[in-house]
Amino acid sequence: MWSSGDAVALREIWKGRVWKARACTVVHDRADHLALVVPRGAPTKIPPGSGIPRDRWELEDGVFTVDALRLTRPGEAHSILLFWDADVFQGWYVNLEQPLRRSAVGFDYLDQELDLYVRPDRTWEYLDEDEFEEAQRLGVIGAEAAAAVRAEAARVLGLIERWEPPFCDGWEHWRPDPAWPIPTLPPEWEIVST
Ligand code: MG
Repeated sequence: MWSSGDAVALREIWKGRVWKARACTVVHDRADHLALVVPRGAPTKIPPGSGIPRDRWELEDGVFTVDALRLTRPGEAHSILLFWDADVFQGWYVNLEQPLRRSAVGFDYLDQELDLYVRPDRTWEYLDEDEFEEAQRLGVIGAEAAAAVRAEAARVLGLIERWEPPFCDGWEHWRPDPAWPIPTLPPEWEIVST
């Protein structure tokens, strides 16, 4: 388990290699809950172009451009990202993804393209449905996985309808410790063990 304040790599893995990596800071790492913060300015390694994994890619250095808190219940096929803009809470971004796996440098997964955006007034919408369809057409997301993503989205929509956690559970009032430095990617961030 990681400790509060540890800098870790949150990586997307495709074909045994790093497809995307972002440096983040551990808020807490518990058996039932993981909280990571990805601050504005955190270094990233992301290939240019389409966000859908492909056969060949080169990673480019970049930085994360917003402040995000990333909450995950271990084993669940989504994470919740909370965003702020000038200290004003913007809403919950439900990122459908493979359940996070622990790695030597942090956590690994692969994004499943489809997202849900939930505003503070409880209105919501799907995002990136076109990329979700395209990823299926390209074989990046298989039929069975796509059905599981839709089922997970439907389960989260039930939570929105009932306005249950993780919505309105208090994390929207959380703010990062200003004393924490911007995290860096750990050494060996690019090594994927099989
Ligand atoms: Mg996504």
